[in-house]
Amino acid sequence: MADRYAVIGNPIAHSRSPAIHARFAAATGQDIVYERLLAPVGGFAEAALRFRAEGGRGLNVTLPFKLDAFALATERSARAEAAGAVNLLAFDGERIFGDNTDGAGLVRDVEVRLGVPLAGRSVLLLGAGGAARGVIRPLLDAGATRVAIANRTAARARELATGLGDARVAGCGFDEVGAMLDGGGPFDLLVNATSTGLGGEALPVPGALFAAALLAYDMVYAAAPTRFMAQAEAGGCPRVSDGLGMLIEQAAESFLVWRGVRPDTAPVYAALRAELAAEAAR
Ligand code: NAP
Repeated sequence: MADRYAVIGNPIAHSRSPAIHARFAAATGQDIVYERLLAPVGGFAEAALRFRAEGGRGLNVTLPFKLDAFALATERSARAEAAGAVNLLAFDGERIFGDNTDGAGLVRDVEVRLGVPLAGRSVLLLGAGGAARGVIRPLLDAGATRVAIANRTAARARELATGLGDARVAGCGFDEVGAMLDGGGPFDLLVNATSTGLGGEALPVPGALFAAALLAYDMVYAAAPTRFMAQAEAGGCPRVSDGLGMLIEQAAESFLVWRGVRPDTAPVYAALRAELAAEAAR
């Protein structure tokens, strides 16, 4: 019988993870089924344990449950501990292993698909929520020399940076980014980890950021360029990307943890990009 996996969240109907994992399974010959699981807010542990009792082997965890998943895990990877959040659970008897594949997903998409090595680069991370938290240590491990975190709520960015206790990481408010630029030089990679998405106001950061960067990367993905991508292009950034590749790479990393096989992501990226475009054209 096929091994069961699912993505759990609230809301969850929009999730593309089942389509991604079905493609990975077909390409690697792994016998799995991968579903969507809607859990009520406040009901994460019950839903996750019920899925395990019904034979589930693992879960991907999305908003708003990454901290609940962290708490439910009986063992955690070093990268999950560093992130303080879990987006993958693997069930093995009574053991519940928690991991975080978001950072590995970002690093792989930037380095492999986009061809931008992170060694020696300086990074500006916009946002200090769960997604930002998950990528800082992997960026440093990939060789980034500096990671500045700028957030609407400056105190949150400062707390996150201080908590890491690493001289390469600093936190500030959006209004202090100009001083960071003046003090430490330009940033090579700009990563939008805020949930600003497709519309709304441009982020209140200095325009000079964009022309000096190599790449502006938005964790949000869509058929059309996101608000941040448009802002970066208008500011003269030579390359922009949305977060579809990160989504696929974090899924591939999850598949590797669960199944011991790393699927090829390039064809899945091409298929999903085409699907997004076709949906938008309808
Ligand atoms: P979160 O924990 O809710 O954090 C949201 C962040 O956005 C906070 O830093 C918040 O700042 C900031 N923010 C919200 N509205 C803002 C606004 N109007 N202006 C400026 N900043 C604003 O969310 P998350 O889990 O970190 O997720 C962030 C985004 O990343 C989401 O869109 C998510 O879908 C995406 N994501 C993508 C992937 C992928 O694989 N591609 C993986 C993970 C997450 P304050 O602290 O001031 O509230």
